[in-house]
Amino acid sequence: MHELDFAYDIFKIAEETAKKYNAKKVKSIFLEIGELTNIFPELLKESFKIVTKDSIVENAMLDIHIISGQIKCRNCSNISDVKITDEAKLTGLQLFRCNKCDSINTEIIEGKKMNIKNIKIEE
Ligand SMILES: [Zn+2]
Repeated sequence: MHELDFAYDIFKIAEETAKKYNAKKVKSIFLEIGELTNIFPELLKESFKIVTKDSIVENAMLDIHIISGQIKCRNCSNISDVKITDEAKLTGLQLFRCNKCDSINTEIIEGKKMNIKNIKIEE
């Protein structure tokens, strides 16, 4: 369950930001999560509640936006949108086929990252 690690990272960044600006509390955190990260938003929210308990970040809202995955074909340079399959979820193996030429010689160019875009605090 790597959501707990991510939740902890978000918590630490939010806490630092709050301290830097002498905030009373953190109100909300705007997050972008790539579809191919294997992060489950509901699990992330649960984990976040656990790690932020009794801190300045407690009760902050997680505003989660999912960024869809994209691959680029090394064979024909076509860019395809991809969705993670149930099989990939289970095995962790992510091999995607080009929409155009069906090659699996592809690289993921979007959807593997998690970004904190914005943190709202109460001063
Ligand atoms: Zn291709």
